[in-house]
Amino acid sequence: MLGGMQDWSLRVTTLIDHAAREHGTREIVSHWCNGTETRTNWAGIRHDALRMTQALRAFGLTPGDRVATLAMNHHRHLVSWYGAIGAGGILHTINPRLFDDQLDYIVNHAQDRVLLFDLQWAAVVERMKPRWPTIEHYICFDSGLPAQHFEDWIAPHDGNAGWADGDERDACMLCYTSGTTGNPKGVLYEHRSTVLHAMTCIMPAVFGLDARTVMMPIVPMFHAASWGLPWAGAAAGSKLVYSAVNDAAVLCDLFDREQVTASAGVPTAWSGMLQHLDLAGKPIPASLRQVLCGGSAMPRSMIERFMRAGIRVAHLWGMTETSPVGTTGAQSADWDDLAFEDQVAVMALQGRPAYGVELRCVALDDPALVLPRDGKTAGALQVRGPWVIKRYFRAERDAVGADGWFDTGDVAVIHPDGNLQLTDRTKDVIKSGGEWISSVELENAAVGHPGVAEAAAIGIHHPKWEERPLLVVVRKPDAAVDEPELRAYLGGIVAKWWVPDEIAFVDALPHTGTGKISKKDLRDTFRDYRWRA
Ligand code: ADP
Repeated sequence: MLGGMQDWSLRVTTLIDHAAREHGTREIVSHWCNGTETRTNWAGIRHDALRMTQALRAFGLTPGDRVATLAMNHHRHLVSWYGAIGAGGILHTINPRLFDDQLDYIVNHAQDRVLLFDLQWAAVVERMKPRWPTIEHYICFDSGLPAQHFEDWIAPHDGNAGWADGDERDACMLCYTSGTTGNPKGVLYEHRSTVLHAMTCIMPAVFGLDARTVMMPIVPMFHAASWGLPWAGAAAGSKLVYSAVNDAAVLCDLFDREQVTASAGVPTAWSGMLQHLDLAGKPIPASLRQVLCGGSAMPRSMIERFMRAGIRVAHLWGMTETSPVGTTGAQSADWDDLAFEDQVAVMALQGRPAYGVELRCVALDDPALVLPRDGKTAGALQVRGPWVIKRYFRAERDAVGADGWFDTGDVAVIHPDGNLQLTDRTKDVIKSGGEWISSVELENAAVGHPGVAEAAAIGIHHPKWEERPLLVVVRKPDAAVDEPELRAYLGGIVAKWWVPDEIAFVDALPHTGTGKISKKDLRDTFRDYRWRA
């Protein structure tokens, strides 16, 4: 027997309708590269998005056509998210820092018809234009270019239009993974998955957003759907503060001026900010109540520092394929009974799944064997849920196994209380004498040393042990830590046989377009490394 409730399609446009209706005057602030600011609100975003749907229809956009963006964080980019999807299109956010061959592959694979871009990426656009035959229209978010300016493009339209109608299972957004192996793969979100994800994100145990929140997303809008913040922010009616400049000094200044209460970014962004505050002799902004951090492991020292300042830390795990939120630093029932040090230790784990996300680990050498949640046994992490990928864009086969689970490529331990602990990427684990060494744990231990700014461990072929870890370290400015000192320090934290025999000190580590350490590039650099002993 069917139930008696209404059909109310979970379409992304219901989020912006809600925000404009219930939180219409809540501000959206953009800080631009030239230091100026623009202030609008949720009602303004909706109005401009509707004008953009009219402009796209004038281009002859048909449902399912891809509309791409190559842009940083600002309100026009936000307008274009709702405008592209509201017109029935599929929004495709592109990471401007990808290499030319990747940009070529992604745009042609997606068959984008329209591209909206920031002036700061004009050179990329000029260079790539001949390789992007499917793009018919170029629109610039800033003025001062031969390409049409976004404001001029939507100016003739009055916003007196409706959103495209359709099914809640229609595709609405396309994000490509950075493609650490092979070509980048497109993850195609649907309206329903996006709305369900947004409803989960605003919950207290996840992002904890409401109408009082002033959220500054540092995570770029081109990275993993900006962690869903443009959708969740609308559902909650939060104020959003955007900066088109990703600079620690600018961001710290905005924290104070806009009284930002919550912010989200990868650990390198947060460590850049803390370093800036330290150099300037300033405290953590007093308005900040919540730090959302994920994308790679949040160092324990950083967690402790924020928690000592009375800030709630949410350590997130997820991936483009999971929309991206999988787990968060959701506090357990006994949280208040834990000693401070234990709370920090729990928060250093990757957190517990939100409702809608199921996790399990299977044996690395036998995927049919589901491992116990005992906090000890590491295995291949698998996930399923309504906002988890089933099939990559234009792929011929499903990305999930016959039983519906998606293999994340992460190696993890699940604790009895549901806390996830990532120990590695399947391809980054170091196998020494038949036993596994977690590169992640070595790195976490190393960055706990006061003289270490950044560290990465990779497996190097070893004649006797198959592989041994090589630790590659960037010292903090003016720090003099050397190999014997760091090895002794690590010996006090990890098993003796895990301690790297050799440590390489470098000026900088290679990073991916999303700010993560690129193990692939690092492995290339050290491919011919010879052990001294
Ligand atoms: P990419 O960086 O490849 O573009 P994602 O941003 O989707 O793709 O990265 C997802 C991966 O990032 C996860 O599979 C995991 O390895 C890593 N990751 C995400 N969050 C965390 C975290 N909190 N701790 C450690 N690793 C994480």
